[in-house]
Amino acid sequence: MKLYLNVPYSEKEEAKSLGAKWNARVKKWYINTDPKEYTKFSKWILGDTDDAVIATEYIFIVESQQKCWKCGQSTRVVGLGIGEFVHIYGDADDPHFEIVEDYVEPGEELHLAWADNENDIPPKLLKYLKDTYSVKTGYSKTIGRKCFANHCDCCGVLQGNWFLFNEPDSPLSSCVGGDELIERMCKLKIKGIPIKDDLQLDWNVGFCSNDYAYFKYGQFEELVLSTDPNDEYISYEELYCL
Ligand SMILES: [Zn+2]
Repeated sequence: MKLYLNVPYSEKEEAKSLGAKWNARVKKWYINTDPKEYTKFSKWILGDTDDAVIATEYIFIVESQQKCWKCGQSTRVVGLGIGEFVHIYGDADDPHFEIVEDYVEPGEELHLAWADNENDIPPKLLKYLKDTYSVKTGYSKTIGRKCFANHCDCCGVLQGNWFLFNEPDSPLSSCVGGDELIERMCKLKIKGIPIKDDLQLDWNVGFCSNDYAYFKYGQFEELVLSTDPNDEYISYEELYCL
């Protein structure tokens, strides 16, 4: 699989000697290898963090509704999601690697995600979100700074990220049991965007033991953002408008 890396100019010879290739058109280094080899490049994948999530095959949009806390009307709310992913973690000198499979009993999993900073969302996906939903960067009084968030379809007020992506009562959360889980998941619309290249995403990803329920009960549809009529899988270059 192809994975683009952030290689500083001063480290280009090192990346090259390890097998990275240069895409002159977009002026970026990339690797085209089995994901098991990704740890060799962990220096540029992890950077100064100790945890990296690399989405494969699909990224997702998860849509539901909630009652606006301000005007009381029903408004759409959306989250992002990842399915199967490559997880690189630990120290860059001693990295660990795992492929988190998309099929775990009793079914395929989706993990809810979000990015407080809209720059962490690939531009083409961000444009789709902004054109389709009431999402934008707004000032959150609760956290006292700007963040990318859902806003009410009716009155425009910000719908808090903390509630939507961390609280079990969120209409997007699978962290609830029994009939309530099924009822909640049945209301979800899940849009799966096929991706051609592996994609390192700096999103906050939530994990819950009920993450199989998104696909089991939600309504799934494929969302093709690729403009290549011969390939529904969107490339890194197109996703980043390069
Ligand atoms: Zn409202």
